[in-house]
Amino acid sequence: MSNTESVGWGLQKAQQRVELLLRHTQEFLLEPKLLSVALEELSVVLEELQQQYDELLGNRYQQHEELLTLRQTLKQQQQRYQALFNTIADGYLVTNVQGVIQEANQVVGNLFGVRQQLLVGKPLLVFVANADHRAFHTYLTRLQAGAQLRAWTIQFQPRDGESFPAMVEMSAIYDDRGDLTGWRWLIRDITALKQAEAILLKELASEKELGELKSHFIETVSHEFRTPMAIILMSAELLERYGHQATDEKKQQYAERIRSSIRRLDALITNVLSYSHAEAGKQPFNPTPQKLEAFCQATVDLHQSSEGDRHTLHLDHDGSCDVACIDTVLGQQILNNLLSNAVKYSPAGTSVLVALWCDDNHVIISVQDAGIGIPSEQQSRLFQPFYRARNVGTIPGTGLGLAIVKQAIDLHGGEITVESAVDEGTTFTITLPLTQ
Ligand code: ADP
Repeated sequence: MSNTESVGWGLQKAQQRVELLLRHTQEFLLEPKLLSVALEELSVVLEELQQQYDELLGNRYQQHEELLTLRQTLKQQQQRYQALFNTIADGYLVTNVQGVIQEANQVVGNLFGVRQQLLVGKPLLVFVANADHRAFHTYLTRLQAGAQLRAWTIQFQPRDGESFPAMVEMSAIYDDRGDLTGWRWLIRDITALKQAEAILLKELASEKELGELKSHFIETVSHEFRTPMAIILMSAELLERYGHQATDEKKQQYAERIRSSIRRLDALITNVLSYSHAEAGKQPFNPTPQKLEAFCQATVDLHQSSEGDRHTLHLDHDGSCDVACIDTVLGQQILNNLLSNAVKYSPAGTSVLVALWCDDNHVIISVQDAGIGIPSEQQSRLFQPFYRARNVGTIPGTGLGLAIVKQAIDLHGGEITVESAVDEGTTFTITLPLTQ
């Protein structure tokens, strides 16, 4: 029996005693002893009642104290929960079953660009990027149907600013009867993650591309070696077998073929070596004063002699240049590579024009041809090692020449630019400081 019940029962008993006393008043007058017995009984009952009442009061007090402590604990827990809710790095929100926001932490407010308080009552869908509306609906419908979904990614669209990708984790909220009442959402902005992923993928792709370019390079280098060597071998055999019958002119022709093939081999080996030296950071760099016109003229003459009458090479200078500090080997490599490309990628019968001029601080050299040109979208990649434009067809090459030119120009602290149009021609312009 509870305290309250026993107090009620005590009261009943006391009432019965009082009623008894009233009913037997007459008898008590005749028999006073009976009265004192009845009064004693009543006083016992009242005493018991007092005790029960005291106990009840005591319990009530204790219950009250317990209730106070409980309330305090609850308040503290609520504060802790609120602090946690607001300080976690991820967005956390609670929605009803239909996805209408009921609670949201500060992070969600920041992510969506809306004050935390104003989020309540808004459907979460309004912050989902248009392109993902359908996906969002599908997920929610499947979840409502009891599907177990792990984390999923979705694009959110804040009030202002750019949309962002987010990883969303959800869990269901049930009431005491086990009925679904809403969802808890954990939202993590994964923009940085996606960016890192994109960089990684790009790096992987360029790694792969570099690998492919390198194996292509090995193929081309072997081919590039074989062709001049075959010409040398064939010319030497012809000279050996038929030299005694051949005219001097013919013999001269064979000898020239051998010489130009050897020059081609030499240029190829120089390029490959230069490239690997520069890659290893071991490229020697010794700039010395050079007479610019003489320097350019010598290189142009050398190319003209090996070109014969297939191309006409011409040096144009306005007398504005005197001396510049240039590394002889690298300087020659720059001009050699630009000139051999100009003739290689131009049809026979066209001209190559080298122009030289200086301003107060720079020497500028341009090499212009009327050749196949370079597609504009590929021009920015020309200086990458092994890169060759798509329109080279069967014209031989390794894709190293311009990379070496760029390395040499960088060492001089200069610049190179290209202007080109397909089937019209190309102009490379280099600018080097006059003094190092
Ligand atoms: P390659 O050995 O292939 O000539 P380069 O590094 O010298 O290698 O040049 C890279 C690419 O740039 C060439 O494969 C070609 O596509 C393009 N190129 C360079 N110079 C010219 C030019 N004068 N005319 C047309 N295309 C050129």
